[in-house]
Amino acid sequence: MPSLPFDVSPLDVIGDDSDFVHLDYAASAPCVRAAADAVQDLLPRYGSVHRGTGVRSQTSTLAYELARDVVAEFVGARPDDTVIFTRNTTDALNLLARALPPATTTVHFDGEHHANLLPWPNPLRLPAPSSPDEAVTALKLALDGLSGPAVFTVTGASNVTGEVWPVRELADVARSYGVRVIVDAAQLAPHVPVDLDDLGADYLAFSGHKLYAPFGAGVLAGRADWLDAAEPYLAGGGASAAVGDRPGDLTWATGAPRHEGGTPNLLGAVALAAVCEALTTVGRPELRDHEQRLLARLRDGLSRVPGATEVSLFGPDHPRVGIVSLALTGHDPAEVARRLGREHGIGVRAGQFCAHPLVRRLSGTGRTGACDDGVPGLLRISFGLGSTEADIDRVLEALTAVLGTVR
Ligand code: PLP
Repeated sequence: MPSLPFDVSPLDVIGDDSDFVHLDYAASAPCVRAAADAVQDLLPRYGSVHRGTGVRSQTSTLAYELARDVVAEFVGARPDDTVIFTRNTTDALNLLARALPPATTTVHFDGEHHANLLPWPNPLRLPAPSSPDEAVTALKLALDGLSGPAVFTVTGASNVTGEVWPVRELADVARSYGVRVIVDAAQLAPHVPVDLDDLGADYLAFSGHKLYAPFGAGVLAGRADWLDAAEPYLAGGGASAAVGDRPGDLTWATGAPRHEGGTPNLLGAVALAAVCEALTTVGRPELRDHEQRLLARLRDGLSRVPGATEVSLFGPDHPRVGIVSLALTGHDPAEVARRLGREHGIGVRAGQFCAHPLVRRLSGTGRTGACDDGVPGLLRISFGLGSTEADIDRVLEALTAVLGTVR
């Protein structure tokens, strides 16, 4: 991105100079230099975390705990919060689901990604709203009707429409009922700052591989009390403080180690933290402006592509991150995606994006083509800090060509 008016070198995308255009950032974003450098730096020196006295082990333990501190800063962790390294957002939300106090109802809308739809033991699922006001009203109504303990969980930004959810407004409602708030920040964290207090969140989850770091590391951050009271997510070394001679005669660790059983993913955590640091120090507003410029260019161009209709829940003017999904008239989105890849060297995604109820609803207009498995589906274009105007122009041109071809 040579045109950006600030030093983005820690956020340079690591590329192979091929002509391929990656427009599937919402699935997994490319790795940036900050993450690659952090891994490169530690590769020749690492040892076991929390488990040895040698210099490699000590270096690794220090790096791992520093990574935790950086992530804590990134999310604005409060004194009573814990930051736990997980495998990804799915892992983080499953961990939290198991740590909820007994009989807690989890209130959520059905527009969530499956990772924030399926783990909850006592779900109360509300239909996805058509506006932020409707969301607030529906949440109030639902909480009015509940008597037992509850939590509310919501995505920060939709992986289908890219729309930014009114998290703060919803959190204010939930908290006025004494209900804790969980934010799935998988699609929010790569694009805007995610501060627990600013969002009104008690818990926050996100994935490294969507945040320009490699796969295998994610984060659950939030209130320590429930996490410290819960059974360890994975029983084993690291999660246990003392183990006696008889089964069951043991003391579990407290704090993050309680839920980080087994040897942790040091390189993943350090790479993720390196990106968090880079995103904090490199101008976020400029990055956001860059993405919003690309978004405007893409949407403007799409409005002139026949047969492609952008989908949204909250309407075309609602703020969104760099994700646009399209309903296609008379075309199989999966086939269109395949042709974009094969004939034009462009990677996008087709299907239901692990958000079946939402995609069914957005496809319910009758405009949408079905994927080749017969299931309604959409075509998604998503981008981020490594994307350029040329990428956007190329997908617009390619899409026009592909949709202009009779099947
Ligand atoms: N939440 C949202 C909004 C997502 O978009 C995704 C992945 O696409 C997830 C959760 C799950 O992330 P992961 O597959 O990294 O666990």
